[in-house]
Amino acid sequence: MPVQVITVITSYNVDHLEEIYESYQQKEIDEVLFSPVCPTSFNQTFIPSPEILYKNMKSLIENIVTRYKKGDFVKPKIRNIKDYLSLFLFPKNTETCIGCSSGISHPLLAIDLDGKVYPCDSFFGEEGMKLGDIENGFEKIIEEGNKIRYNRSIDQIENCNKCNWKRFCGGGCIAESYYLYKDIHHPTIYCEYNKKMFEFFASMLPSFLESGIENFF
Ligand code: SF4
Ligand code: SF4
Repeated sequence: MPVQVITVITSYNVDHLEEIYESYQQKEIDEVLFSPVCPTSFNQTFIPSPEILYKNMKSLIENIVTRYKKGDFVKPKIRNIKDYLSLFLFPKNTETCIGCSSGISHPLLAIDLDGKVYPCDSFFGEEGMKLGDIENGFEKIIEEGNKIRYNRSIDQIENCNKCNWKRFCGGGCIAESYYLYKDIHHPTIYCEYNKKMFEFFASMLPSFLESGIENFF
């Protein structure tokens, strides 16, 4: 069975991405997703600097691509590469929380231990974001679960509505916006990082093709 891991990037490990990747190579991990920590009101010191995050992610990915070009067998695969390439090659709706799910119309629902249902586990315990209780049936909850995402349109978010990358980015995580600003219409604090990564991946497309694009999926 393939082993996939998610590495949450924080201010404490952002300078060690290469080492972390190497440690996974030794442990026979198949795929890794590097995911910057989701900012909330209580973990601000964990948030990595967007500039350092970009520099180190770019360097990690460039090294991987160089190894593929040399014909090396590279494992684990980096899920971020697959995700960015998928966005460019198979664009889909990113207005909502689709990035966290493989579904399109019903991205994600999260059930807490007490049976309360939320649009995402990031909202566990937030009474105002509760969609219902599993004991009362799922049908209505599923509709509500979508509504919260439909209520957030990228075109309602200042700056995002004018951004060239808005259809790829989606403006970031709803939970992040909710916890930091108490409303769901703010761009992510990783905005500059996202823009640079989109630009970087666009510029790297020829290299990905040269290295055998199928290697990254
Ligand atoms: S890159 Fe920034 S401005 Fe553009 S859509 Fe994403 S969060 Fe909004
Ligand atoms: S709220 Fe954030 S973490 Fe939750 S599904 Fe949406 S984007 Fe993903």
